[in-house]
This record gives sequence, structure tokens and C-alpha cells, in this order.
Amino acid sequence: AEAALQLAVEKVTEVHEYEPGHDRGATHRLELLADLSRALETDDQISLHYQPKIDLGSGRLVGVEALIRWDHPVRGRIAPDAFIPVTESTSLIHPLTTRVLEIALRQAAAWQREGADIPVAVNLSTRCLLDAGFAGHVFDLLRHHGLPASLLKLEVTESLVMADPERCLSVLHALHDGGIRLSIDDFGTGYCSMSYLQRLPVGELKIDKSFVQGMTGSHGDAVLVRTAVSLAHSLGLEVVAEGVEDEATAAALREINCDTAQGYYYARPMPAGDFDRWHADVTRAVTIPAT
Ligand code: C2E
Ligand code: MG
Ligand code: MG
Ligand code: MG
Repeated sequence: AEAALQLAVEKVTEVHEYEPGHDRGATHRLELLADLSRALETDDQISLHYQPKIDLGSGRLVGVEALIRWDHPVRGRIAPDAFIPVTESTSLIHPLTTRVLEIALRQAAAWQREGADIPVAVNLSTRCLLDAGFAGHVFDLLRHHGLPASLLKLEVTESLVMADPERCLSVLHALHDGGIRLSIDDFGTGYCSMSYLQRLPVGELKIDKSFVQGMTGSHGDAVLVRTAVSLAHSLGLEVVAEGVEDEATAAALREINCDTAQGYYYARPMPAGDFDRWHADVTRAVTIPAT
């Protein structure tokens, strides 16, 4: 962890040198990274929340997305958007990703022991895909937790993959060949060319919530979502709409044959205990018909 922090410090100092007017920003980032490095050495600051992914046709649970939560001892809960991008520019992203995978795989294995095969999706940074040993590391973790690769999904963003497609592609292929399912996150916000999209060994495309949230009010967003759904289906991919907040959006998505939805309308990301209660409730509602 110390080596990681050292690298992080070098990286931030580098940024600092190029942006003389941003002293306070650099100091802030440095503190954040030092605190995160310490957080990764404890057990009580980093946790995961799980958000259900729902089949739009049947209303059934098809999996969950694991989302990191950091409870800072002094500053309280810090949102991922406030520390993931900074962390991604340093090697601290490696121990962070390992921690997230460990928690997610342990949880998925616990669900499986209880009789529920719930695929869990973990978000990756491209920095992981630039590491040739990453796929082997993930397979070791799967074996350690006794979890089949088919219950793990990895989400990557298109712009990240486009940064160095050839190197990322070989890691993506290794993950895919070992049975891990891959997903393109935040689709529509980056610049994934159609030819790369077609070459990526992914099975799922997630439409960014900015378009999904706009689709019932903006013609442009509605066209974009419809086009993304048909592009995905033409390439043999499943489509997930993220950020579904109301029934009108869910209905519009069913209308254009979108496969899966994720959003506050169904459930917010929740700690595992809350998720288990939610899951028990919806399972009861689906399996016991009203008399
Ligand atoms: P993402 O992967 O696109 O995750 C979806 C984000 O949308 C989550 O934000 C989720 O809480 C939020 N969301 C879900 N449904 C709704 C909705 O109906 N309305 C609105 N307004 N938001 C909704 P969150 O948890 O704050 O995470 C933000 C981003 O941080 C993620 O975006 C992902 O890029 C990154 N992230 C989160 N956890 C991890 C992690 O473990 N590793 C890495 N590398 N990145 C992570
Ligand atoms: Mg995601
Ligand atoms: Mg997303
Ligand atoms: Mg996002």
C-alpha cells in the first residue's frame, strides 16, 4: 500500500506542477488518496451497495450491479464520482478493484449457497485492462471464492477501452474466454466507433442514464435510446437502460423492446441486508399468485 501511495503522490505532484493555479485542488486530491490508501487497510470504511437489474418483460430480477461506498471517518460518506476518477489516475485503483471484487464475489457466493444464482456486475477502470495479469488475477479470485465465472459480469466504459484498444482487447478476450460476461457502461457518452463495438467480446450494452432520463421529454433522447437498442440487438447484444425513475420511462422502454432496466423506480442501490429483504419481498410477490 505504501508503494501504491508513493505512486499516487508522484502522480498528484505531477498534476500539481502542470497546474500552478490549482494548489488547493492538488492538496485535496493528495489527502483523499492518502485517506483512501488507509481505508483500504481497514475493514470498516469500504462497502458495496447492490442495485437490482430488472427484466422489462417479466419484471424479474436478472442480476445486480455492485457500487462502491466509502464511509470516511471524518468526512462521512464520499460519493464514488468524488474519488473514483482521481483514484483511476493512480495505481491505487488496483488494490481498490481487488477489494471491490473480493466483497462482490464473497457476497455472490453467499447468495449461491442460499440457493440464489444472482449475477453480480462490478465496474472496472481501464487501468485494470492495461494490466496483462488482470484476467488471471480475477480467475484466482473466482476460484478462491468458489464462484462460477458466469455469475460475474464486468462493466467497462467505451471511452476507457478506446484509450488503448489493442491492449484492452487482449485482456477483455482473456476474461471472456474464461466465461466472464462483459458489458459496455454509459453507452452514448463516449466515442466507441461501430467497428470497435463489433470487435469487443461484450454481451451487453448499458445506455447512459442521461439519455434514459430525457427520453420521455426529449425527442432527441428518445431517438438516441431507440437507435442504441436496435444497434445492440443487431449486434446480438442485450440492452440495459440505467437511471429508470418512473413508470412512463419503463413503458417507453418496453415499447422499443429494451431488455433490462435499472433505476430508482425499481430500487436504489442497497446494502446486502436490505437487498436480501427486498429480494425476499419481490420473490414472494411473483411466486404467490393473488387469490
Ligand atoms: P455507473 O457504473 O454508471 O453506475 C450507475 C450510477 O447511477 C450509480 O451511481 C447509481 O447509484 C446511479 N443510479 C442508478 N439508478 C439511478 C436512477 O434512477 N437515477 C439516478 N439519478 N441515478 C441512478 P454511483 O453509485 O454514485 O456511482 C457512480 C459511478 O462511480 C458509477 O457509474 C461508476 O462509474 C463508478 N463506480 C461505482 N462503483 C465503482 C467501483 O467499484 N469501481 C469503479 N471503478 N467505479 C465505480
Ligand atoms: Mg456501471
Ligand atoms: Mg453507467
Ligand atoms: Mg456512470
